[in-house]
Amino acid sequence: MFFNGEESRLRSLLEKLDSGVKLYREEFACLMSAEPSVLNAVASDMAGDIARRTFGRRVFLRGLIEISSFCKNDCLYCGLRASNKDAQRYRLSREEILERCEAGYELGLRTFVLQGGEDLALTDEWVADVVREIKKRFAGVAVTLSLGERDKVSYRRFKDAGADRYLLRHETYNAEHYARLHPQTMSRDARVACLHTLKRLGFQTGAGMMIGSPGQTPATLADDLMFLQELRPEMVGIGPFIPAHGTPFEHEPKGSVERTLSLISVVRIMFPRANIPATTALATLDAKGREKGIMAGANVLMPNISPKEQRAKYSIYDNKANTGLESIEGLEELKERLAAIDYTVDWGRGDCLDPR
Ligand code: SF4
Repeated sequence: MFFNGEESRLRSLLEKLDSGVKLYREEFACLMSAEPSVLNAVASDMAGDIARRTFGRRVFLRGLIEISSFCKNDCLYCGLRASNKDAQRYRLSREEILERCEAGYELGLRTFVLQGGEDLALTDEWVADVVREIKKRFAGVAVTLSLGERDKVSYRRFKDAGADRYLLRHETYNAEHYARLHPQTMSRDARVACLHTLKRLGFQTGAGMMIGSPGQTPATLADDLMFLQELRPEMVGIGPFIPAHGTPFEHEPKGSVERTLSLISVVRIMFPRANIPATTALATLDAKGREKGIMAGANVLMPNISPKEQRAKYSIYDNKANTGLESIEGLEELKERLAAIDYTVDWGRGDCLDPR
């Protein structure tokens, strides 16, 4: 195969990553400065091959339960932000969550992801009790929590209750960029401290970022990759920015699918064993987003198993897909779509205990 000068340079950087060598910030900046289509031409096949070598042509399914749309925070990009008066609020009861787990367990799901805003009503005791009950009733399942920033004592209680994984996307590592996306009450340092705490407590820890958020540049993306390289998360969530109605960013342009795919590929090359979802946001922007994400190196899909009547209310961005292939009702069609790219569902827990 013939590569021009730029492609050769990109390839040699990706091969360094593939061989386990850490890159310098300038080298990540070089990757991130490339046109996404050029980077994808080099990175996508390499990343897809790595994922297939690690996982086979198999995709793990996680049952996503959105447990609360209340949030005390005011992230500028998020439709659930506290000051968004148009946001519809709900909170699932313990029994509703357990009922959804039961339905998911019967279908074969072995990971449940409990996701919500930073809802002050979800006390540590309540969350720990729900986790304990899920682990007691449904043998062999993994529980992932995604409930935002808490202190070490809270995270430890969740771990002691049996939670296995915790997702907390850092969104951007660059402190100035972080300040542009978040209110003054939040800080990059606090977010990063939470992620290190989660790692130390033994959670399979998920970081990640939005692609195309206002103010993002190749330099801030290089900062993100440097941070991931240091943190070595077991999961990385990467999705395009999509503007949300009723937020300060509602008229900002959405992120690029191509750019998102290029980041999925680079992160897959960095972390061959990490769990990387093809996100709902990617599928919201591109009808073939799931398949493209998987071909670019993703290995996880997260069908929504929340109660149907609540799904539309969990509106973190506009037109968020929550039915069809993004929901558990679309499971058969999802399997067909995976079969069309010669992939199949893996019903295992899909733990990652070592990203490399
Ligand atoms: S991104 Fe998370 S913490 Fe921020 S407002 Fe939305 S739900 Fe709350």
